[in-house]
Amino acid sequence: MTQHHSSLAIPNPFKSLPLIILLPFVLISSTFTIVTMNSIQNEMHENAAAYLELIEQTVSNLEADNLAAITTPIDCVKMQENLMFENTSRELIVVKDDIAICSSKRGIIKIDLSSFIPPEGSNDGAYLFDINNDPSQRTLFVVNSVTGDKHSGIFSITNTAHLLEQYTTVANSQSSTVTLKFGNKIYPYDSDFISNRTHAFSHSNNYNFSVLVETQPAYVTNNIIVSFLRSLAISILSSYIIFLSVRRFQRRSTLVDDLRRGLTRQEFFLCYQPLINSEDETIGGIEALIRWNHPKLGLIRPDLFIPLAEQQNLINQLTDYVINAALNDLSQIPSSTHIHLGINVPPNYLHQQNCIDVLDTYREGFLAVGYILTIEVTERQMLDETGRETIKRLRTKGVKISIDDFGTGHTSLSVLQTINFDYLKIDKCFIDNIGVESVSAPVLNTIIDLGHRLGVTIVAEGVETEHQVNYLVDKNVSVLQGYYYYKPLPLAKLKRLMLSNQNLV
Ligand code: C2E
Ligand code: CA
Ligand code: CA
Repeated sequence: MTQHHSSLAIPNPFKSLPLIILLPFVLISSTFTIVTMNSIQNEMHENAAAYLELIEQTVSNLEADNLAAITTPIDCVKMQENLMFENTSRELIVVKDDIAICSSKRGIIKIDLSSFIPPEGSNDGAYLFDINNDPSQRTLFVVNSVTGDKHSGIFSITNTAHLLEQYTTVANSQSSTVTLKFGNKIYPYDSDFISNRTHAFSHSNNYNFSVLVETQPAYVTNNIIVSFLRSLAISILSSYIIFLSVRRFQRRSTLVDDLRRGLTRQEFFLCYQPLINSEDETIGGIEALIRWNHPKLGLIRPDLFIPLAEQQNLINQLTDYVINAALNDLSQIPSSTHIHLGINVPPNYLHQQNCIDVLDTYREGFLAVGYILTIEVTERQMLDETGRETIKRLRTKGVKISIDDFGTGHTSLSVLQTINFDYLKIDKCFIDNIGVESVSAPVLNTIIDLGHRLGVTIVAEGVETEHQVNYLVDKNVSVLQGYYYYKPLPLAKLKRLMLSNQNLV
């Protein structure tokens, strides 16, 4: 019975665990896979387009060189000098009547080409040509003939391997490979111009060639693994968050149901914490503090269920329950010295039409057994005009008013001025800081000072040490409440205490 539970164990969120784990995993991992594959596909398209542009540029440069060579009178020695150092990977050949007569690399030559120039090679354009009919010597030819003479012109021959190497300037060759197709010839000669991997084609609009870019198999695998690991991490995190939310939701909805049932089944009871007059250390009052004895979970702290009761509009019912239970309890231990009974009343309660009559009736009931009804109104929640008016009228009827948790809320000083009250209860958090080097010490002193100036009785809550007692007594704080004196006591213990103090009739 002494253990405080802050949570509920039923219903079991683990039941939905397979779904909570599987669903995010399937959704997230499939999304990640689609995104990864799409981005690889896009990368291939971009690589293909960039490489195509590069080859077009190369061919167009060669063409320009060819045309320039055609229009100038042939001076083989000069041409050789001009081009010798320009580019080792290419050769310019001047052809006249199917005879190669000059090479930029070899100077003046005389090679009869008529037997092995392919039919397409005699037209202007860019071709792959197998030197000596050997596919492994497949080479790029850019041909420009003299106008009206198909047998004379310029051939630019380019090293195809060099052409392929240029791929590394536009893309990472670790991730993809490239294949070229001019007409119906493919380079590298042993490749296929089809792909069963992720790939992209690009076709030139200006020349008769195409480019195929395809992924390296390891690249896709690595990307998928990385994406899988990422999606795994994210789905574990998502599952965890969903699990917590489900558990929270289930607990909350269970707790709300239990709260409702608990009220009708009278599972709530009160403890009473004495308030001590600092002057003579006698008991000047008690505060009723609600406890919930949950049938399955034992004691549940009010911090947990009071806010829930407020959200679920059960708080007024709960407050009625407390006042009624307090009257039942205290009727069993009538007091001979009129002591104060503090009841925590949320501002919401004060909005009810009949609350003045109800509270006044209880005031009489408590008075008859020797207790002065004091309502503790928390400063945490705003007191509006209606609330202030109710307080005023209750006070004229003889109900005492205590402003609870003072210093933690947002009651402005101007509001304080408009309500008359009897007690100002300084919140525990300020008392905790006594003796501790803290910026809130001046605040505590100011609150005490304010209480004195307003002419109300100051109550310090949560007093735990002798040092705090001395400090507060020194500052003329007249009522002290806290574990230093008493913890909240069950009715039976309160009864014994009152007997020993001879407070009972
Ligand atoms: P509160 O009104 O500020 O009540 C004081 C709280 O401080 C009580 O906690 C009390 O047990 C605790 N306390 C008193 N002296 C000491 C101390 O020296 N050391 C420590 N550590 N704690 C001390 P409790 O009973 O758990 O109540 C918590 C809050 O729940 C209350 O704060 C009040 O806001 C709310 N509450 C409790 N009973 C009721 C009730 O019947 N009705 C409403 N509306 N709220 C209640
Ligand atoms: Ca209180
Ligand atoms: Ca408090």
